[in-house]
Amino acid sequence: MKKDNLRFSSKLIHAGDHKDQYGSAIVPIYQTSTFSFESADHGAKCFSGEAEGYIYTRIANPTIRALEKAVASLENGYDGIATSSGMGAVSTIYMALLSNGAHIVSHNAIYGPARGIIETIFPKFGIESTYIDASKLENIEKAIKPNTKMLYIETPANPTMDIIDIKAAAEIAHKHGIPLVVDNTFCSPYLQRPLDLGADIVLHSMTKFINGHADIVGGIIVTKEKDYYDKLRPVMINLGFNIDPHQAFLAHRGLKTLAVRMDRAQESSIIIAEYLENHPKVSWVKYPGLKSHQNYELGKKQMDGPGCMISFELKGGLDAGKILMDNVQLALLAVSLGGVETLIQHPASMTHSKISKEHREKAGITDGLVRFSVGIEDVNDIMEDIEQALQMI
Ligand SMILES: *Cc1c(COP(=O)(O)O)cnc(C)c1O
Repeated sequence: MKKDNLRFSSKLIHAGDHKDQYGSAIVPIYQTSTFSFESADHGAKCFSGEAEGYIYTRIANPTIRALEKAVASLENGYDGIATSSGMGAVSTIYMALLSNGAHIVSHNAIYGPARGIIETIFPKFGIESTYIDASKLENIEKAIKPNTKMLYIETPANPTMDIIDIKAAAEIAHKHGIPLVVDNTFCSPYLQRPLDLGADIVLHSMTKFINGHADIVGGIIVTKEKDYYDKLRPVMINLGFNIDPHQAFLAHRGLKTLAVRMDRAQESSIIIAEYLENHPKVSWVKYPGLKSHQNYELGKKQMDGPGCMISFELKGGLDAGKILMDNVQLALLAVSLGGVETLIQHPASMTHSKISKEHREKAGITDGLVRFSVGIEDVNDIMEDIEQALQMI
């Protein structure tokens, strides 16, 4: 049987396969900084690219390459570039594709630091930005200027769960001759494959669903074509955004169970979202699997499932949010997402507490907003835990 055309769940297990002299079932951890050459001639050929061979782990490493090949295959892309973190992936893309005088158009509610570095660090390199509600396509068209060099989106976006039409966004970007970059962290390649919908570059925080066990920080970029890969890879290498072989090993191990983990967590998420929507202490729930979601039809079209992230608003606002946080016992009170354990977070008193209420509300982060990353515990235990905490409000 040819391994080129495997279905998704089989690719999770076999993509990025590695053959060694011992026939090891799993890609070993090549915990080495450097690789020796067979001869001066071989060394010269490795550097010139005439011979395949590893040189130095910041450039490439067999454990890391196996992971890169696996995720690239899952995203139906040309090749992958693993990075030290999701932000390492974001920074690699910005540094490679934005130069002095460039302008970037992006969604207003993307991952905080992905917007933060554009607004605080990149202006000193002469880079401008416009942040808009990209779930309304006419806003994208209006924001693009002659010097716009990138359209950067995240869908569903964090924590508002806005869904952006990837296919339509790609058409707009390409009409203006610029690439579409999609942060696919919330869906993972299991639920959404942006390159198939026209995006040029996709990235993940592997810290979340891809690794799935809350024990590493890592990122990855996959490009659709060779030319972007060739532009991005040297930036990762030379700015030192590389991942460590041991982290890559753990991410690759976690990746193998992506589908079973997400199936389980998603099944529970649908039940929990419906329960919350009918709860008297909750004013609304944002979850792509609910008919009440602002972009329900679009989500059904471009995603293979509604995912495991739920945002909901408590009627009692800030105080109610704090009471809920203090009384959950099973769910961990923590930022991050996509692990096997259920996590709960209250942006107004936690991640976004330093932002003024006015700015928070503009980004859709209201005082009673709670973000829930559903894990793979028994759904009844997860619900009993929220119920007893909601009773305290
Ligand atoms: C966490 C996250 C990031 C950043 O990833 P790190 O691994 O923490 O650097 C980027 N985008 C999204 C959507 C995230 O959730």
